[in-house]
This record gives sequence, C-alpha cells and structure tokens, in this order.
Amino acid sequence: MKIIDPHVHMTSRTTDDYEAMAAAGIVAVVEPAFWLGQPRTQVGSFIDYFNSLVGWERFRASQFGIRHFCTMGLNPKESNNTRLSEEVLALLPRYLAKDGVVAVGEIGFDDQTDAEEACFARQIELAREHNLPVLVHTPHRDKKQGTIRSIALVRSLNFPEERVLIDHNNEETLPIVLDSRCWAGHTIYPNTKMDEHRMAALVKKYGHDRIIVNSAADWGISDPLKVPKTIAVMREQGIADDVIQKIVWDNPLAFFAQSGRFDVTDADVRPTVDRSQKFESNSVLRGERAQAR
Ligand SMILES: [Zn+2]
Repeated sequence: MKIIDPHVHMTSRTTDDYEAMAAAGIVAVVEPAFWLGQPRTQVGSFIDYFNSLVGWERFRASQFGIRHFCTMGLNPKESNNTRLSEEVLALLPRYLAKDGVVAVGEIGFDDQTDAEEACFARQIELAREHNLPVLVHTPHRDKKQGTIRSIALVRSLNFPEERVLIDHNNEETLPIVLDSRCWAGHTIYPNTKMDEHRMAALVKKYGHDRIIVNSAADWGISDPLKVPKTIAVMREQGIADDVIQKIVWDNPLAFFAQSGRFDVTDADVRPTVDRSQKFESNSVLRGERAQAR
C-alpha cells in the first residue's frame, strides 16, 4: 500500500527513521514549518529554518527514496512575539513561491490570543494570494473551542473551506469539522490522546471522506511509523484496504494537489539512491563507504 505521512517534522528525526519509514511503505511526506521547542529570537533563525525545509531536508529525504514536501508559515505559539511575527510574515511570500511548498501552515491557535488570531488571518490572506491550501493546527488546550474559532475565522474571510485541513482532531472535534467542508487530519500519538484503535473506531463511525491520518512526529515523544501502524490496526478491525488507501494516500494527495505542486508521480517506484550525492558539498554519509543503494 502506498502511504503519505502528511504531517511529520523530519528535521527533528534521524536517518534510522527515514530508513524505517521507507521500509514501511511511506513514499512521500509533508513537513510543516513549526515551533522548535524553544522560541526563536531573530528573523534570521526563521530564514535558515525555512531554507533547510526546501533545501537540505528535502535532499536528505531523497537519499532514502522519500519525496519531501513542506508547508510554510508562522506557528501559533511564536505569533505571540509581535515584533518578530511582523518580520516573519514579511518574509513568507518569498518562500510561498517556492517549488515543493504545498500549503501555508501550520497556522492556527495555541493559547487563542488576539495576536494568534491576527497572524492566522493574515496568513489565510497569504494563502489566497499564493493560491495555496492551508494547514491548521488545533490547540492542545480547549481544542473544541479552538476548532470552532478556526472554522469561523476561515468563513469570516470567505476562504474556500475545501482548501483547509484542520489537524489534530479527536472524537469531539471531528464531527464539527465534518459539518464544514474542511478536511480533517488526525495525529496518532504513542501514549496520550488519539491512538490507532480510536482512529479505527472513528473511521468505522464516519467513513473515509475528507479523513486524513498523520504521525506529526517531532522532537517530542512521537513515532514516525504511526501511519503504517494505524493501517495495521484498521486492517485488524476489518476496515477494507480500499478505504484505508483513501485515508493514507488519495485524501492527502487530493488535498495537497490543490497547490499544483504536489507531484507524487512514480513516488512508489523506489529510486536507486547514490548516497555519495552531495547537497552544497555535504552528503548523508559521514565520511567514506559511499555505495549505491
Ligand atoms: Zn506539527
């Protein structure tokens, strides 16, 4: 089965993760720009991070036969630094124009402050100007209210709902999202919140329409194999393979294809990778032993 992980922060992961993901059938990933666990103090840190998402990280993924795309945006948490947020918003158009950038995101609410809402709204306008879909992060605290507010904001700006993916849903928020025309992402976590069994139960209850599953693996306790692991549980629970294929391939493909840049043609044909290849004079090899894989 062909698999896309449509939300995973590979910058925080190891080459072992890339190996395991490729072995498990993941052929493409979407890496949203996000919060790095520690607040950035200057706009230059964003410039280097954004450059790495379209540069080194995409190259690194290619060395494991995985197609890498990203989304660009100012995350909700750092939207509260009003001086820095202005500078990052001014920077974004340069990156939204780049190949491989398939949405504006992840944007949305964290503490649900006015500053967050202002940055959220301005980035929806940037998405409209750049003809890109939008990836919306929903908050960990007061998720239901954050979800309702996010959809209300999209509507108040008359942004097309079918170009919005509301992420990190649970049993409480999914019906709210499905009542709109937005897509519904689900992050499968190792210990807390949504897990594989709860996800399978949601698919049995609501079907596959506009439903998407991801690992959102990052620098915290998380698992980049959660999409394949969820497939295994859905099969165990008797969910048909064609339904699963919609959730892990067709749906994320249809959503991000709205960017006009999500090219996964032949992504399932594993390329022969020459790991001695270099990106700005660096390869993924640390020293000798270059060999074709
Ligand atoms: Zn994320």
